[in-house]
Amino acid sequence: MKALITGGCGFIGSHLAEALLDRGDQVTVIDDLSTGRFQNVAHLAEHPSFHFAIESITNEIVMDRLVAECDRIYHLAAAVGVDLVVRDPVHVLETNVKGTEVVLRIGARYRKKLMLASTSEVYGKSTAVPFAEDDDGILGATTRSRWSYACSKAMDEFMALAYHKQLALPVVIMRFFNTVGPRQTGRYGMVIPRFVQQALAGEPLTVYGDGQQSRCFTYVGDVVQAIVALSDDPAAVGQVFNIGSTEEVTIQALAQRTIALAESASEVVYVPYREAYEAGFEDMRRRVPDIGKIGRLIGWAPTVGLDGILTRVIEHMRSDDASTLAEAGASVAAMEGPVRPMGEN
Ligand code: UDP
Repeated sequence: MKALITGGCGFIGSHLAEALLDRGDQVTVIDDLSTGRFQNVAHLAEHPSFHFAIESITNEIVMDRLVAECDRIYHLAAAVGVDLVVRDPVHVLETNVKGTEVVLRIGARYRKKLMLASTSEVYGKSTAVPFAEDDDGILGATTRSRWSYACSKAMDEFMALAYHKQLALPVVIMRFFNTVGPRQTGRYGMVIPRFVQQALAGEPLTVYGDGQQSRCFTYVGDVVQAIVALSDDPAAVGQVFNIGSTEEVTIQALAQRTIALAESASEVVYVPYREAYEAGFEDMRRRVPDIGKIGRLIGWAPTVGLDGILTRVIEHMRSDDASTLAEAGASVAAMEGPVRPMGEN
């Protein structure tokens, strides 16, 4: 199987690349390194079945060639992270709408199976937890830029389902619920890498709002297993699946658990949303998936709980700190070697 992973230098994409290589697939990654990091795949660079293009998915010439050569597309390239969404909505909308449009159009040209990464954010501020795939999403006003991300991914879903219906493109839509684990960066707002970094540095953990909002954090290894199994199952085509843990935790409790597991002396501070993001920012109080559908089809359920996730992220960040300088050197050296935009090959 020849897999093309868009956004393969990102957090989830790099874990997926490893899993596909492990089972013997050929893997080609395309990533413009806007939020992904070469360091995430540097350890794969010498693998004989691994290829990569540092390029934007909006480069249609490059995409045409990569899609023609692959058997399956895992479309993970997207601008994500609430902080990034609030700071740079133009980038978010262009990447998520225009980029996906190119991937779908070229995917349809060669009729390649396309696994589309979407998000639990499309349920918006609905309070009808747990969220099932056909439930309504409730998005806020267009003047609140947070909702532009949900809207862009909902548009991706509409486009993918339309290509499936009208042009027989085999698509599977995967709604991820707060995927976390080693290699995720806190730079774009994600709470677990931020809390772990703060706890390890002995700095206060910044809980936004009153900390009573809750999430279900899902281990990236579990998410990757779901992606691979769904991509292998012909019955998944044309459908939407929630992929998430059902272990719900408040952000306040998450902060306390992080401090305990990191054996940190940090305190918790409460930061109003308007200071953390912007005036009028809207968060959702609870976000819990109904995972009955994916369970019935492929028997998937998460295996790593919150403590297991936090322990792994803590260990990774401790070792990452020690090796940051070495890795930075290695990644620059590797980039001088085999990394080249495909169009120039
Ligand atoms: N959050 C927080 N402190 C931080 C970063 C995030 O309290 O330093 C909160 C954020 O407001 C949200 C939750 O943690 O309620 C999860 O945020 P994240 O950005 O990880 O994911 P989201 O579920 O918002 O997409």
